[in-house]
Amino acid sequence: MTRMVRIDDFPHGDLALFNSGHMMDYQERVEMGLRVFEEYKVHYILGVSPGLLQIGDLDFLEKLVRHGKVVLHGYDHGWSRDWSRITESWAGGGEFEGQTIEAIRTRYNAAHGILRNLSCYDPTHYIPPFNAYNQNFLDVMQHTEVKYIHGCDKERYSYNLDILDHHGRIPLTSQYHKTYDFASEVIHNLDNLSQITLHWIYDSQRPSYEEDYRALAKALTE
Ligand SMILES: [Zn+2]
Repeated sequence: MTRMVRIDDFPHGDLALFNSGHMMDYQERVEMGLRVFEEYKVHYILGVSPGLLQIGDLDFLEKLVRHGKVVLHGYDHGWSRDWSRITESWAGGGEFEGQTIEAIRTRYNAAHGILRNLSCYDPTHYIPPFNAYNQNFLDVMQHTEVKYIHGCDKERYSYNLDILDHHGRIPLTSQYHKTYDFASEVIHNLDNLSQITLHWIYDSQRPSYEEDYRALAKALTE
């Protein structure tokens, strides 16, 4: 089994970019990258926000994801908030900012329920949107199957996430601009063994998208 790669944002994660174009072709864009990872049998997790799924998306995932796993990436990726000011929510927990434990639990249960019949669903990983979370989120995770909580060192240290009680959940932390970057940059840092994180929504903006994923998949499986 190859080293695991984390890929965020299905069906999408950036409301402005989705509305300005990706709404039309997000499935094709995702498929272009993941098909390469499937071909090379790369071990990956794809973060899905179930509250944003469109008709046909579950079937799409069931057919496409074989060597990877689908994992939770929030409920609606904060899209019900004022997107123009979304960064202001990050320090307080991003999607979970200002929510009660009951509200977070209700949305977790709804999200888990939407994905639970997918054969590629792995409930042991959770990717909080924006790598941002808070104590109420962790208190809900305590009573779920989630074992690994994915993040990035930039947010982990900026928002002091280490002082929170993780209830034994294991943080997996990517390094910003090392293992957390465009695929074409991450490939130069494979000796850094922290969690690799990719964002297809930004990688797919580049003409070299497919080649970049192929080069990375090759390097990971050599
Ligand atoms: Zn995201």
